[in-house]
Amino acid sequence: MTDNCILFQNAPKRRDCNECQKIIPAGHLEVVYQKFYHFDCFFKKKEIVCNKTIISIATEEYMDENEEPKTFVSLEDIDCIGGFNLRISDADLSKIREHLALAKGLFIFFS
Ligand SMILES: [Zn+2]
Repeated sequence: MTDNCILFQNAPKRRDCNECQKIIPAGHLEVVYQKFYHFDCFFKKKEIVCNKTIISIATEEYMDENEEPKTFVSLEDIDCIGGFNLRISDADLSKIREHLALAKGLFIFFS
């Protein structure tokens, strides 16, 4: 996982959101970008770049083209290749796509 990668996953354990400081319950959709955020908090605070190569979704483990085990996939690969076993719900994936469509053209900015 590189630093400029934004990962969407179901929280594996309960932890605090870096924005509102409230708890992200285990199993809820969370955004990982250097720190952890509620989905809504992340999109409220951050201007999101609409670059599908850095938006990643948690998956069941699979082998990438270099035979390396991976547990996330870029939104671009989901769109182009497909067939991944995502670890978030279809509803959550739709929610992510919606927000990215709204944020189109903006660059990520972290204060
Ligand atoms: Zn929050």
